Amino acid sequence: MKRKVLVLEDEQSIRSFVVINLKRAGYEVVEAGSGEEALEKYNTNDDISVAVLDVMLPGIDGYEVCRTLRAHGYTGGVIMLTARVQEADKVTGLMTGADDYVTKPFSVVELTARVDALYRRVSGSPFADGDTITTGPFKLNLRARELLKNGARVELTQIEYGILKAFLKNIGKAMAREELLEKVWGHHYVGELKIVDVNIRRLRIKIEDDPANPQYIKTVRGFGYLWEG
Ligand code: CA
Repeated sequence: MKRKVLVLEDEQSIRSFVVINLKRAGYEVVEAGSGEEALEKYNTNDDISVAVLDVMLPGIDGYEVCRTLRAHGYTGGVIMLTARVQEADKVTGLMTGADDYVTKPFSVVELTARVDALYRRVSGSPFADGDTITTGPFKLNLRARELLKNGARVELTQIEYGILKAFLKNIGKAMAREELLEKVWGHHYVGELKIVDVNIRRLRIKIEDDPANPQYIKTVRGFGYLWEG
C-alpha cells in the first residue's frame, strides 16, 4: 500500500499544519477542504492508505464521508478528528467505519503517531515476513493474514487478527489488557480497555470450541489474557 494520506479539514490553518507534518513524516498527502472535495479527490486517488477526516464541516460531515468511502470499497484506515468527546459520537464513528479518533485540540505529533500506527496496520508491512505460526489446531499465516483451524479458514477482522498474532507470538505469557491495546491498536487509549474485552469475546466465539469455557484464550483475572499453548 502507498504511503498516501487524505486530509479532510475545512480550517485552512489546521489543515496546512497537519499536511506539512505528514509530508515531513514521509507521506504523500491529498488535501480537501470539504467533504464533497474529499470524495471527488478519492475518485482519482483510490490508493490512499489512511484518511484523516474532520467531523464538523460546512457541507456533508466527516461521518458521511467515512460512510461513503466504505460504501465505495475503501479498506484503508480512517481517523476521525472530533471536537466532541461524548461516547455517543464515538459509537457513531464506529458505525460508519472509523478506526480511530483524535480529539481536538490535538497535538500534531500525536496525530502523526496515530497515522503511522494505522498505516502499519493497514499496509501489513510488519507482518510481511512470510512466517507461519502453528499451534494445536491453529495455523496463522502472517503473510496472508489468514487463520486456519483444523484446515478451515476462520474469518477475522484486522483487529481480531492483530490480537491473535500478539497471542501466538507470546504463547503461555500473560498479557495485560494495556499491552494488547498497545500492540494491536498501536497506542494506549486510557479508559477504553473494554474494547479489548469486547474483541476477545468476539474472537473466542470464532475460535473456541466452547466460548463459555475457553480452552485457548484464558482470562487472567484482574490483569488480562493468556494463550494457553
Ligand atoms: Ca471543522
